[in-house]
Amino acid sequence: MRYAVLGDIHSNLSALECVLEDIRATQVDQILSVGDVVGYGASPSDCIRLLREEGVIVVKGNHDAACVGELNENTFNRYALEAVRWTRGVLSTDEMDWLRELPLEVTLEHCQLAHGSIHEPEAFEYIRTTRDADPSLELMTRPVAFVGHTHIPIALMRLLEPVGSTAYSPDLDVDLRESDRCLVNVGSVGQPRDEDHRTGWVLFDSEAQTVKLKRLPYQIEVAASRIRDAGLPRMLADRLYLGV
Ligand code: ZN
Repeated sequence: MRYAVLGDIHSNLSALECVLEDIRATQVDQILSVGDVVGYGASPSDCIRLLREEGVIVVKGNHDAACVGELNENTFNRYALEAVRWTRGVLSTDEMDWLRELPLEVTLEHCQLAHGSIHEPEAFEYIRTTRDADPSLELMTRPVAFVGHTHIPIALMRLLEPVGSTAYSPDLDVDLRESDRCLVNVGSVGQPRDEDHRTGWVLFDSEAQTVKLKRLPYQIEVAASRIRDAGLPRMLADRLYLGV
């Protein structure tokens, strides 16, 4: 099976359209999303509609949970909170129901999905180090799991030798046969924070056992002007150009 895995989309329609067009040209069997479909950007309804049309398997992110009132808003900074409240005001009841019904974790034949971590998906923890990754690597029931949340691509690998040790790579061009298990943060479609403003998506080939991140330029100006026109904080538009 060939899977496309999408990181945090954050209501960025221009980025999502760019990525979906590239995925169509590449041909995959199933598209997956690690959550945070909404928040920050100005096109939540269009992003939800596209994911539903494409039959994407989606898990719930912390911004998705906050929009439907399932998360304490104190965990959000001022800009994120303003965007959550704005999003809540523009979504239909049907779209809110769709967000509410998203699962926190999904286990498929070849991989697992969650937003923050596999070991405690409801806590929306940030996995930034090998130590952060260890509890998830212990509990994984598949050779590979995909997460998002930090918006920074990284692969965290439980090595075959020495047994029980964990390594990481910021370069997402991974041969899964070289490790026992691998936890992959796929980065972000709609708000990259690795100082590379391009959007991107991950191709996972379960037969070849490879995971590869592809980066693509997209129309940032369109996404940024939608944010400004919606009256959302300008900072949310400006950061798209910087990739932070
Ligand atoms: Zn996010």
